[in-house]
Amino acid sequence: MTIREARIQGAGRLKDGGIETPSLDASLLLAFILKTTRDKLILRDAETLNEDAARDFTHLLDRRLVGVCTAYILGRKEFHGLDFTVTPDVLVPRPDTETLVDAALAALPLPLTEDVPQPVLDLCTGSGAVAIALKHERPSLEVYASDISPKALAIARENARRLLGNAEAIHFLVGDLFNAAPYPLFSSITANPPYVASGEITGLTREVRGEPLEALDGGTDGLDLIRRIIADAPAHLLPGGSLLMEADPRQMAAITLILEKKEYRDIRIYQDLSGRDRVIESRVPGCAQLG
Ligand code: GLN
Repeated sequence: MTIREARIQGAGRLKDGGIETPSLDASLLLAFILKTTRDKLILRDAETLNEDAARDFTHLLDRRLVGVCTAYILGRKEFHGLDFTVTPDVLVPRPDTETLVDAALAALPLPLTEDVPQPVLDLCTGSGAVAIALKHERPSLEVYASDISPKALAIARENARRLLGNAEAIHFLVGDLFNAAPYPLFSSITANPPYVASGEITGLTREVRGEPLEALDGGTDGLDLIRRIIADAPAHLLPGGSLLMEADPRQMAAITLILEKKEYRDIRIYQDLSGRDRVIESRVPGCAQLG
């Protein structure tokens, strides 16, 4: 069998099994087995697939067909141009979350000189995707990242080591939200907290249900963690500092009200790649004008 035939057959099996993106997934799995990339795989279409590779491919297709997401099978997921290690201990970074990174970069003024520290805290960091992408884009930032799960932080550390060249490039903190965070220190706080309403968890795809529940379940209305973050962030933000959170598009109105009650200002909503409201930014009051 040629590589092309294997790819087409594999995609067919995934399609029949109800997988949403059969061609993409089949190509990614086959490229993984052949230790190449999806782009380069096409160039090898006419080559014969040896028996061992064909057997391995069948095995990976079987795993995909029982609902294991492609990122967990590969152990990798691309996010903001970086290739992250992922395991079932962490939520798979979503393209939508790139909006959080871009909004945070836009919210942080470029310092006039490199030696002005700009500390940023990423809560619920999981694989470290947001924290590491921020540090990668702007190395002058001093990035802290916290998570309640030591297992997730082990993956985040490994990602920092591989993608930034040094696990110490980020200050990792094990703790429940702000528990381990120093204060009052931060120019900006980012968070992609669990925000799925508990009653909606069973309606998620089996792939998403294979991800850590503690990274998804946000309580009755999905806003438990978001409420706590809004309540505690002002004690950790510098005057005029920004809080940026990812949430569900349907939650934006409720979050806006909570922020307004707590006297946050300059509330702004950013859309994700599908044009849906995905990130909400707000600021704590700045310094009183002098004179
Ligand atoms: N966007 C995620 C989903 O696919 C939810 C992630 C989260 O709760 N932070 O459901």
